[in-house]
Amino acid sequence: MRYLVTGAAGFIGSNLAARLAVSGHDVVGIDSFNDYYSPELKLLRKKNLLDPHGIKVHEFDLCDLYRTSQVVQDLKPDSIFHLAAQPGVRIPLGSSNLYVQNNLVAHANILQTAVEYEVPNFLYASSSSVYGNSTADTFSEDDNSIQPISIYGATKLANEILTPAFVKRSNTRARGLRFFTVYGPWGRPDMAYFRLIEAAINGTNFRKFGEGEIKRDFTFVDDITSMIESLDKQLNETPIGNSDVVNIGGGKPYSLNDLIEIISAKSDLQLNLKVEESNPNDTKYTSANVEKLISLVGEKPEVDLDSGVSRTFAWATQPEVKQYLLQWIKSTI
Ligand code: NAD
Repeated sequence: MRYLVTGAAGFIGSNLAARLAVSGHDVVGIDSFNDYYSPELKLLRKKNLLDPHGIKVHEFDLCDLYRTSQVVQDLKPDSIFHLAAQPGVRIPLGSSNLYVQNNLVAHANILQTAVEYEVPNFLYASSSSVYGNSTADTFSEDDNSIQPISIYGATKLANEILTPAFVKRSNTRARGLRFFTVYGPWGRPDMAYFRLIEAAINGTNFRKFGEGEIKRDFTFVDDITSMIESLDKQLNETPIGNSDVVNIGGGKPYSLNDLIEIISAKSDLQLNLKVEESNPNDTKYTSANVEKLISLVGEKPEVDLDSGVSRTFAWATQPEVKQYLLQWIKSTI
């Protein structure tokens, strides 16, 4: 198969592109290598995860409709995995246009192109942030009353509304993937687990936002990429013009304090915590209802937080990575 991965130099995109190549597919990427966090980290992912498989990455912004459609027209991919976006909920209000450009305009451009050139499958990253502060025990795709609390979450939900309107009466099927807090090697330096691991390795301060009671359904990146691959295969069995959304999480939430305990136990150093005010854009709790995922692909994420953190820790302590950890974190502030 021929696959196009957007956000291919990003955390999940680079891991996904490498997995698809290992499975024997031809993979091409698009990424703008933007500076939301260190572009050097993105280049290092390319060098370590993409180049060894001969995965070519076109460097441009998906807001450029002409270049986007050129790549899709030339490649004629069987599936597009659209993972490029402005992630995170902490961008200041005055820079909210980053969400609008990278999550709405970029999404509409690649989606329009997929439909125009009759790409059979279009899979795109959504997020557990669409659920906002839902009070349900587990978050279900069937809940139509959800209300995002961040601009980021709102743009992801907007994509889910826009996509079915684009693909119905087209030759494309679409699937939104609601990821739940993804972590792992080559991760994002703006995320708590990454900053905690760095603090545990280098003895620097960890800025802990709030009391640590917020809970997340942490999902290991290999589980995410494996589920995406299976969900793409399953999508082939659905009618053209079809569009749906699927949660990808493990359904086992842990608190920030649990995460701190797990990471502390892997380090000889005492963690230096600096407690700061919690961020109002952070939801209090996430937990995926995985019934739909299991019904579609017969499995769900299984890597438990302790072993996933061990694997991330092992990656972070390699000298060629460790020397950059703090620099990458500083690039996000
Ligand atoms: P990431 O920031 O590491 O990767 C996104 C990549 O997209 C970056 O390399 C960036 O340079 C690129 N990009 C951004 N805007 C672009 C544009 N306009 N044109 C071309 N490239 C562009 O983020 P990630 O954690 O890998 O997230 C991947 C996707 O999954 C995103 O859509 C994100 O919103 C979603 N998601 C991630 C998580 C998580 O926990 N990591 C959770 C829920 C949803």
